[in-house]
Amino acid sequence: MSKIRLALVGLGKIARDQHLPAIAADDRFELVAIVSRNADLEGVAHFTTLADLLASDVAVDAVSLCTPPQPRHPLAHLALAAGKHVMLEKPPGATLSEVEDLRLTAAARGLTLQTTWHSRYAQGVAPARAWLADKAIKAVRIDWREDVRVWHPGQTWIWEAGGLGVFDPGINALSIATAILPRPFFLTGAVLHVPENCQSPIQAELDFVDAAGAPVRAEFDFLQTGPQSWDIAVETDAGVLKLSHGGAKLFIDGELLHEGPDAEYAGLYDAFARLVADAASDVDVSPLRHVADAFLLGRRVVAPAFIE
Ligand code: NAP
Repeated sequence: MSKIRLALVGLGKIARDQHLPAIAADDRFELVAIVSRNADLEGVAHFTTLADLLASDVAVDAVSLCTPPQPRHPLAHLALAAGKHVMLEKPPGATLSEVEDLRLTAAARGLTLQTTWHSRYAQGVAPARAWLADKAIKAVRIDWREDVRVWHPGQTWIWEAGGLGVFDPGINALSIATAILPRPFFLTGAVLHVPENCQSPIQAELDFVDAAGAPVRAEFDFLQTGPQSWDIAVETDAGVLKLSHGGAKLFIDGELLHEGPDAEYAGLYDAFARLVADAASDVDVSPLRHVADAFLLGRRVVAPAFIE
């Protein structure tokens, strides 16, 4: 089978840290173009806009969109309209409606659209889902606390409307929770701490209840210094399951059951290649829907200004 000729749009942190190595390691892909306003890559055709690439003679089968969420829909729509398969970094868009528009557009054209949730490919997530499948859930606790100055330096888009603030990492926790918990869960209340000079929250506390009444509590914090926490604990009738390190390690009652090397983006590109081969799509907005619910239902509290 011929290789998927791929263009990557937005050469920022995640593109360099994860996408480029994952693409290079997967021989089903050939990176044929970079679209970036500010950067290029030696040996790869470079364009400043996606429209310029699509008007060029560089042949492209698929586009991987690594920009922030706010400018993503017009780019994705342009790519689909030009007959290209599309991979969307998380979150898949700035609104739910625009992702639905992309889903319908891809389906109408027989193209692949993939909403990526990289944390679901962390090593502990699949075994956690399998272990929880037949357990009675009593309570869930999510702690997602990181230092924004370490992980998102200079990313002003994160503080703007549509940038999600602390939900940018928090949505990763929600992507895992929606994948491993056997029942759906619903928001009952939230508090969003929004710095007085920003449009998006720096901390958030969320209370959900699952379909059988079990409480699910999530706390997201962008001001955590020292040790960072990306943990989910699920209390069940058969013991406590804990996913730590963003899902990389799985413990049952304190005993390490599963861990392995980071292969999140290898997993995403493997899934994308399979979707393209099968002429299928994978569009799941459930983590973004929970974030939208928090913005609908959450109580705003003014927090001190954020100065990077
Ligand atoms: P970033 O370092 O700020 O890079 C984003 C890139 O998008 C920029 O370098 C810019 O590239 C391009 N871009 C196009 N339109 C833009 C606009 N209107 N405003 C700002 N940049 C624009 O951000 P990132 O950390 O790579 O995150 C990008 C996406 O990946 C986000 O949705 C984020 O949630 C997701 N993600 C990030 C991480 C992480 O650890 N950082 C992990 C997983 C997922 P050019 O200058 O090349 O045009």
